[in-house]
Amino acid sequence: MFDTLIIGGGAAGMSCALVLGSAKDKACAQNKSIGIVLHQKTSHLQTALFNNVLGLTPGTTGASILESGQAQLSSLYPHVQQIEHEKVLELSKSNGVFTITTNKNEYQSKLVVIAVGYTNLMTIKGLESYIEPHPRAAIEKDRIWLKNTDHLIEDNLYVAGSLAGWRSQFAIASGSGAHVATDILTLWNDGKHMKVHDKIEGI
Ligand SMILES: Cc1cc2nc3c(=O)[nH]c(=O)nc-3n(C[C@H](O)[C@H](O)[C@H](O)COP(=O)(O)OP(=O)(O)OC[C@H]3O[C@@H](n4cnc5c(N)ncnc54)[C@H](O)[C@@H]3O)c2cc1C
Repeated sequence: MFDTLIIGGGAAGMSCALVLGSAKDKACAQNKSIGIVLHQKTSHLQTALFNNVLGLTPGTTGASILESGQAQLSSLYPHVQQIEHEKVLELSKSNGVFTITTNKNEYQSKLVVIAVGYTNLMTIKGLESYIEPHPRAAIEKDRIWLKNTDHLIEDNLYVAGSLAGWRSQFAIASGSGAHVATDILTLWNDGKHMKVHDKIEGI
């Protein structure tokens, strides 16, 4: 049983996992079981090239971020379980617990973050009732969002990244994933606002 399972390992999902993972020494996050389904095939990062993102060396490819992000997560926060090469097919909820069915396995989680991008090819069963035309994308592109308020779809079900209704820019998607992570940490911290900052010792 996961405390939080993130579905999708692109800009939003990976950022969410990094911030959640970085809270490992905070009392409220200790012993929390966190996972991410890292199916990468349909990520917009696969073909993206970044010259306009603060902190990224111009010319950085999205494909390299998919690799380096995963390596960063496993080296710094190995307690975040990475589930690779599995595609989520269905999400259901019973007695307050989500069941996540992939093409290979079934997982249970108390809380779920959907970060699978805003393409209308998104076909996870169980989410149909939340799908609407994307509010901030060109109509002819046929993009979708999952109706939400401040990333929350319903109790313990969050959406992050372009699928949350944000415009498709790397920094916006990453920020959305980080935002959801701090909302989850705040929830675990009994509603007291939380963030995770590392700092240089001695300053
Ligand atoms: C060609 C191109 C160029 C771009 N150039 C720029 C740029 O110059 N500057 C900029 O700021 N932004 C750029 N972007 C936009 C940027 O890449 C996106 O805004 C960002 O990747 C969106 O992040 P996301 O997490 O919402 O979606 P994604 O990064 O697409 O991540 C979605 C993830 O969910 C996974 N997934 C999908 N379905 C499932 C499923 N059923 N089960 C499990 N996992 C699933 C995908 O494989 C992927 O890993 C570009 C995009 C493209 C396509």
